[in-house]
Amino acid sequence: MELKLYDTLTKEKLPFRPLDPKNVRMYVCGPTVYDFAHIGNARPVIVFDVLFRLLRHIYGVDHVKYVRNITDVDDKINDRAARDFPGLPLSEAIRKVTEETEKQFHADVDALGCLRPTVEPRATEHIAEMRAIIEKLIAGGNAYVEQDHVLFNVASDPNYGKLARRSLDEMLAGARVDVAPYKHDAMDFVLWKPSKPGEPSWPSPGGITTQGRPGWHIECSAMAWKHLGEQFDIHGGGIDLVFPHHENELAQSCCAFHKDRMANVWMHNGFLQVEGEKMSKSLGNFVTIRELLTGWRGRSWPGDALRFAMMQTQYRSPIDWSLAACDNAFNTLKDFFSVAAPPSGEPPPSVIEALADDLNTPRVVAELHALRKQVRDPGDEAAVALGNALAFLGLDAARFAAWVAKADASAVSKAGNVDDLIADRAAARARKDFKESDRIRDELAARGIVLKDGKDADGKPVTTWEIAR
Ligand code: AMP
Ligand code: ZN
Repeated sequence: MELKLYDTLTKEKLPFRPLDPKNVRMYVCGPTVYDFAHIGNARPVIVFDVLFRLLRHIYGVDHVKYVRNITDVDDKINDRAARDFPGLPLSEAIRKVTEETEKQFHADVDALGCLRPTVEPRATEHIAEMRAIIEKLIAGGNAYVEQDHVLFNVASDPNYGKLARRSLDEMLAGARVDVAPYKHDAMDFVLWKPSKPGEPSWPSPGGITTQGRPGWHIECSAMAWKHLGEQFDIHGGGIDLVFPHHENELAQSCCAFHKDRMANVWMHNGFLQVEGEKMSKSLGNFVTIRELLTGWRGRSWPGDALRFAMMQTQYRSPIDWSLAACDNAFNTLKDFFSVAAPPSGEPPPSVIEALADDLNTPRVVAELHALRKQVRDPGDEAAVALGNALAFLGLDAARFAAWVAKADASAVSKAGNVDDLIADRAAARARKDFKESDRIRDELAARGIVLKDGKDADGKPVTTWEIAR
């Protein structure tokens, strides 16, 4: 078995050779903590969790270091803090927003079966490293100070644009790069900028006398350097991060440390889409992980089903997100868990081989179906292999069963109330108050309960209900 991974930089699927097999190092760009994460944001978290599990399997649990940062300094955080806590000093409000959001994020991705990374550094705890890199860049002629900003001098880096494989003109057009009076060239990007009054601020690099704050890209270069060194094995994130974020990280780190590479392999997941468009906050076509877990339009799914739905597609391809896909994943997983033996050991080699082929999860899913078909008796070889495979993939029978039990209990507790509402609706219909009877039907529909009007054995009208699934 040889692990092969597709590298965005060389555009090739190549055998993976860690710099040090005793210390395999991966960095993945994490969330900006200002609001609930949507299910599109969950995709990189799940994809790189599967890779983390595979690397631990191949190199040993103690020989893989996975760093996923938390971006806790950002305009969106400041805006949210000012809006939600207008009475508090901004710094305190920001702390409330970031702490709360970080907790929500952890609860959500735990429910999706993702292991915690080895280190989860916060940007605001790495300002010294950011300043150090910026000083190196200034000293080497790769950055300049202008009007209390520090800018990266893109023209100083002959390799700039290699990751995104775009010409300067394309990059300028594609990124809608800001033209600003402090930029010597429109392509140059911000490493450090002045803070507005009340905003988080730190002593500035480059001899700037006023306080300031870092740009976004420098955060990741600093955290990767601190926790993984000047060069490491894998850098990951969603495909939208290739340009400008990863191109800029690469430029900063390579120029600061005089290296030709930052990571040996650059990996990017495709978009999770809704009707052909990227799911995003700005388009408003998003649903949060939390809503899917706890109730969205009267429906919800266990995290394991959402995780399994994600695995039906290879990570580089776009996923079209649909409720039908969640339902299918739920039903298949329920069936798998009903016959799988409790996990007792290593996953079957066929599963590892499929994953080693650039995380070919659709092939893994096919292997699971094949194993499922072979199960004759509980505890037979296929049932054991299936149980071990599911556990290895982070799909947890106990967590799934607990979710189902809770959902059933809540359906039962709702039932009494549903019967009352049905009686109210019958009374409304009897007095020809159809506005009220429709309102009750809609209220139940919003809770995922479908009413069926029929007649009983004596021909009297009777209404039954069922959970829409
Ligand atoms: P953001 O909060 O937008 O910086 O995104 C956090 C992570 O989620 C990044 O790795 C993004 O590339 C990724 N991401 C955001 N939206 C999507 C999406 N619709 N599909 C897949 N990945 C996404
Ligand atoms: Zn990053």
